Amino acid sequence: MSLLITNIGELTTNDPELGVLRDAAIVVGERVEWVGPAAAAPAADERVDVRGAAVLPGFVDSHSHLVFAGDRAPEFAARMAGEPYTGGGIRTTVAATRAATDDQLRANVARLVGEALRQGTTTIEIKSGYGLSTLDEARSVRIAREFTDEVTFLGAHVKPADSPDGYVDLVTGPMLDACAEYAGWVDVFCERGAFDVAESRRVLKAGIAAGLRPRIHANQLTMGGGVQLAVELDCASADHCTHLSDADVDALAHSDTVATLLPGAEFSTRAPYPDARRLLAAGVTVALASDCNPGSSYTSSMPFCIALAVRDMGMTPTEAVWAATAGGARALRRPDLGHLAPGASADLIVLDAPSHLHLAYRPGVPLIASVARKGTFHSLCVEEGHLLNASGPHHPESPHKGVLS
Ligand SMILES: [Zn+2]
Repeated sequence: MSLLITNIGELTTNDPELGVLRDAAIVVGERVEWVGPAAAAPAADERVDVRGAAVLPGFVDSHSHLVFAGDRAPEFAARMAGEPYTGGGIRTTVAATRAATDDQLRANVARLVGEALRQGTTTIEIKSGYGLSTLDEARSVRIAREFTDEVTFLGAHVKPADSPDGYVDLVTGPMLDACAEYAGWVDVFCERGAFDVAESRRVLKAGIAAGLRPRIHANQLTMGGGVQLAVELDCASADHCTHLSDADVDALAHSDTVATLLPGAEFSTRAPYPDARRLLAAGVTVALASDCNPGSSYTSSMPFCIALAVRDMGMTPTEAVWAATAGGARALRRPDLGHLAPGASADLIVLDAPSHLHLAYRPGVPLIASVARKGTFHSLCVEEGHLLNASGPHHPESPHKGVLS
């Protein structure tokens, strides 16, 4: 089955040749088959008229922590009343996660994946890291794998309060062995109070030896050595990058490591934002992601992150949208995602707006009219006049059934 989406007012392709097209159309199956002017569009099995709306690639959220139980709203409120964020609250979530059943964890992931999808996220990376025991980490990656192909083993999130000694031995030994078959990535929270650079190097190298690819939480709270380690080990991404030296910026600029910025964390901890402008000026590839987690960034909204990046991190609206789509795809080393050229995965968003600029220009407004994954629309709205009710059924699925890959 092929689907022609036509009368697109503005089509953001993220393709260097195609650029941004006006009065455009796109033909999709599971992959993009054709892109060009609406007047020249070929016939297809089905046709959707989006009446001048903007279309862009689906968001690629390359950093989330969705396998957990409970929430930490009181901690957030206390922080907003003046208490600093230390990262120690992670252990609150660990206790709740360990006490939860598999079905409770699964239901929470499904809820958040559905929430993200309705806000335009068509690919989401999901980390473990609230189990911190071999059993609980293994079930975390196993449950995450039910929802996405991009699963990250983050046993090295924080050292468990009950058994900090020898924890790196556990993470790089039996825990890794139990988790590796469900995960594609290995990650570590390289930070004062979590894992130092030497420990982080051990964790990532053990993961690499087990066939996983490395990524890292680096330079979030302090100017540590995480970014340099990321470049040393060719991590796909160094995430946070809030406190960077000139040498860190230079190292990123001369590497294949993406700097993934997570402004939801700075928002939720009332911390200074990373300087995206400085990174872009140096030639670093920048991605935006949600960092969705119950402690330091409980948002699944990529449009919210785009708005923050534009308002507070020096990005233009166009740069921020690129970072949330193509940037995220690079942070996951997925050349099939984040753009809408022929051959790419047909993951796209129809906006209830004439331009991608509106994502930052109209913050907090639900502009995501419809989302397609691999060419299949997930109907978001059945009200009369909805953009996608124009020409019949388009295989609507429940967003809650969505398995993002
Ligand atoms: Zn994180």
